[in-house]
Formats: sequence, structure tokens, C-alpha cells
Amino acid sequence: MTASATPAELADAVVVGGGIAGLVAARALTEAGLRPVLLEASGAVGGLVTGGAVGGYEIDLGAEGFAVRRREVRELAEALGLRVEVPAAGSWVWAAGRTFPVPAESVLGIPADPLAPQLREVLGDAGVARAAQDAELDATVGADAADLASLVRARMGEAVLDRLVRPVAGGIHAADPADLAVDAVAPGLRAALAAQGSLAGAVRAIRALAPPGPAVATTTGGLLQLPRALATAIEAAGAEIRTGRRVTRLRRLADGWEAEVDEGTSVRAPRLVLATPARAALDLLGGILTGTDLSLPAGSTITHVTLVVRAPALDGAPRGAGLLVAPGDPVVRAKALTHASAKWPWLAATVRPGEHVLRLSYGRPGAPAEEIGVDDALADARLLLGAEIEEVLDARVVRREGALAPATPEHRASVAELVGRTATLPGLTVTGTWVAGTGLASVVPHAHAVAGRLTR
Ligand SMILES: Cc1cc2nc3c(=O)[nH]c(=O)nc-3n(C[C@H](O)[C@H](O)[C@H](O)COP(=O)(O)OP(=O)(O)OC[C@H]3O[C@@H](n4cnc5c(N)ncnc54)[C@H](O)[C@@H]3O)c2cc1C
Repeated sequence: MTASATPAELADAVVVGGGIAGLVAARALTEAGLRPVLLEASGAVGGLVTGGAVGGYEIDLGAEGFAVRRREVRELAEALGLRVEVPAAGSWVWAAGRTFPVPAESVLGIPADPLAPQLREVLGDAGVARAAQDAELDATVGADAADLASLVRARMGEAVLDRLVRPVAGGIHAADPADLAVDAVAPGLRAALAAQGSLAGAVRAIRALAPPGPAVATTTGGLLQLPRALATAIEAAGAEIRTGRRVTRLRRLADGWEAEVDEGTSVRAPRLVLATPARAALDLLGGILTGTDLSLPAGSTITHVTLVVRAPALDGAPRGAGLLVAPGDPVVRAKALTHASAKWPWLAATVRPGEHVLRLSYGRPGAPAEEIGVDDALADARLLLGAEIEEVLDARVVRREGALAPATPEHRASVAELVGRTATLPGLTVTGTWVAGTGLASVVPHAHAVAGRLTR
């Protein structure tokens, strides 16, 4: 990556932010024959997709996989020459001191078949009977529910909500289903309900649209390979990636945009992609969209504790790829545990015999940010896995302040309004997780599409 920019340098396009959104946008611009300059504040590209060494293994310390409900991330990875692999095991749920596997055919814990035999133990006879009523109810029941909890309660009842959807959706999105906008976390689900006439039918229809098999995948060697491969492809196409360059101000010019960098240089271009997190984007837009309230609530703090442990008792992967924990558990503080070396085949093939890589995630919206240490994570891991962990060989605690934006309908509406105002700014486009939604499956197609529009 090159070292410096000259003042008021001219480029085809400027991309601000080198997370996955910025990288995908930059690559889309190069595909149209342009040579953008990408400016990234930190010392490396990738943003929340980042890795590091723990216990001698180079592993993901941020995002570790992507949802395969859309094909774009897989296609991108494969186009970059990366191999894609799926989890070797399914996930489990921890609720009220009990563990049970997440139904394989489900969306956010909503079962595709409420009468599947294994659900009887999870839901109880009354819970199964209530869930099965979904097939009899009119398609309009729950159709106008904006949040996930209302939708599931109306169609399948409390047991499905409490025992399946709350832990699974709560684990994935770190929020109670009552605070999750259906359209944000399960795009297409409400339309499928209208078309299929039942929620289980809608789940089956959505699952049928996705590739068969697990709902998530990663790149062999860890998701951290993706930003590296993107950067290589972008630079090979003649574009420039500059790390350690924080954009401090955007100026609108008669024929484009100027991005001022903290070290006193600037880059001018007819096209500008703003691909930073919300806070930075709103600060930069504040100088342009004057007279507008550009505030959004801060996200919640997330802490990940990665443990490399010696634990032969885990060799058989007793809880599969890991567990999602129902919110409000009286004993376990973690919201999820990933048994990474059981989940991902590449890591299973890498670890030494008897060693395991575990990752515990903490932080739910609305709850005060907790100080979590290695001992807390170890205690949770022992409980959740129900197995002896002999020794912690190495550990890494990563705390991210405000990293998880609310997924509420109100928040989505505020974002849509803000982004709508940027539509009046010619040559400028805004992307990134705060606009597109959480997760690579949302971010990648959005960044590609909006950058592509700038080239027409
Ligand atoms: C802990 C955690 C785990 C996750 N796990 C998964 C997962 O397993 N699968 C999944 O699909 N999604 C996951 N997600 C969500 C996913 O990581 C994000 O949706 C996605 O990576 C966001 O990419 P982005 O480019 O929009 O933002 P970011 O990755 O935040 O990148 C933004 C970049 O902009 C840079 N920047 C900020 N300000 C400036 C400035 N002024 N000038 C220049 N650069 C600037 C930042 O340094 C950063 O590199 C996870 C998120 C978190 C927080």
C-alpha cells in the first residue's frame, strides 16, 4: 500500500473507509475501468473483518462468517480465488439451563415444520399444538407486525418465541425480537407469509430460495482472507489503497468532491463513496447537509473473548458449532459461544490434538456495557459446553464500543430518512453496515450496487 497523497490530488473516485463496504465499492469502481483512491483511517483494511494470532493460530477476531441467503458474498470470494466452506456442525441453544439443537430448517429460530419430532422436547406438547395453529390461521394474522416478536407470537405462540426465536435471533442480532424489525432481519419473510399463507410456509419458501445446507459459510483460512484478497484485486486493477488516512472533512465542489485527510492532504474526484460507520459518516455529512438533524443513537458495546484451550473432552464437539444463549439467563453472561475449531473445517484441520478455539460474545442492546475478562469467559464456557477445560493456553479480549447498531423499525426509518437526504448530492453515495444492515450478506450487495450507480 502506498505511503502518501499529494495535496488536492485528482482521482476518478474517492472511497472513504476500507471496511468490506469500502473495499467492495472500490472494486466495483475498478470493474467499470475507474482508478479510485481508497482512504482508510486505521493501519489496515477490513474494518470489522479482522484477524490476529491467538495461541499460535491466525484466526478471525471480528466477523467470522457470512449468511448464504444471498449469493453475492460467496460469488465475490470465489471470484477472488478464495475457497468457501460451511460449518461442520449445527448450532445449539441454551435456555433456562437446558441445551437443545437449533432446528436445521429454520429462519432466526422460526421452524419450517412445527411438528418435527425433535421440537416436542423443546416446545412441550402445548407449545407444539400452538405452533401448529399457524397452518390454520388466516394469512393476515401477524401480517402487519413490524417487529419479529409480534409476528412470531401471533402466528406460532410464546413457546416458539421464548425457546427458539429469542435465543437464536437474540444471539445473532444481540437484541430482543421485540426490538427487531422483521424487514431488517428477515427480508422477504412478510411477503412470503402473504404468498404462502403461513409462517412455517414462509420459512420454507425463504429456505428454498437459499442454497441448500447451512445458512452460513466462511472463506478457508478465515474471513480475514476476504479483505486481503479484495485489497490485492483493487491494487492490481490500478487503484490505490492508503491506510492511516483519516478523512476529516468533505467539501462539495462545482464538479465533484474533495476529501480532506488528517495529515493535511486532500483528494478531489467527481465521485465519492462514503463507507465509514455511522458516527464518522454523519460527522462528515454534517458539514454538507446543514440544517439537518444528523444524529443516530449510539450502538451497543460488544466484547469477544477468544480462548485457545486444552480440552480433549471437546474433541467430540458436544455442542456442535456452539450455542446461542437466551437473553436474561440468570447464570450465563455470554450471549453466544462459538466452538470455532469444531465449526470451521479449516481450523479443525489446523489445531493441534486436544486443543480448541472458543469464542464467547458479550453485549446486548440496552444493557450497560460490562467488563468481561478471561475468567468470566472460561466460567461461561465450562457451563455451556458441560465439559472439562483443562487449561487456557492463550486468550484475547476484544471490546468494541458502540459496534452494534439498533435493528429497531424506528432506527431503520431514521437511517432511511438520512440516506434519502444524501440522494440530493450528485456524485456522492453512502454505504456501509449502518445503511445496508448488519452482516456481509447485506453490506456486499449494497456497496456494489451504489458504487456501480456512480459509474453510469
Ligand atoms: C463483533 C462483530 C462480529 C460480527 N460478525 C459477523 C459475522 O460473523 N458475519 C457477518 O456477516 N457480519 C458480522 N458482523 C457485521 C459485519 O462485520 C459488518 O456488517 C461489516 O463488516 C461492516 O462493514 P463496513 O465496511 O460497513 O464497516 P466497518 O467494517 O466498520 O469499516 C468501516 C471502515 O471505515 C474506517 N473509517 C472510519 N472513519 C473513517 C474516516 N473518517 N476516514 C477514513 N476511514 C474511516 C474504519 O477504520 C473502518 O475500517 C459482525 C459485527 C461485529 C461488530
